[in-house]
Amino acid sequence: MHELSVTQSIIKICCEEAVKHKASKVKEIRIKVGELSGLIPDCIQYYFDIASKGTEVEGALIKIDKIPITIKCNECNYEGVLKDKNYSCPVCNSYNLKILKGNEFLIDSLEVD
Ligand SMILES: [Zn+2]
Repeated sequence: MHELSVTQSIIKICCEEAVKHKASKVKEIRIKVGELSGLIPDCIQYYFDIASKGTEVEGALIKIDKIPITIKCNECNYEGVLKDKNYSCPVCNSYNLKILKGNEFLIDSLEVD
């Protein structure tokens, strides 16, 4: 139920924004989700449709940009996107990695009427 609590916070933030901008309708909500966050985009839209009923953001479409996992290897200093999910350095196979990107979850923009 991770997605449900995340979705509820999206709705809360977006409703506040909609009210602030006196928007009558929110058409689209763009969010960025890191691949490491474990959030499933389809679940977010599903929960959003249910949880947004009767709010300022009801009926809005969720657009999700995935942020790939970017790492820095502490052994060989390789820095780049992690393509497969074995979480080891593609150059030296070390597991001694620092995650630079991929845990994010943020609301990018709202499209309103
Ligand atoms: Zn390495």
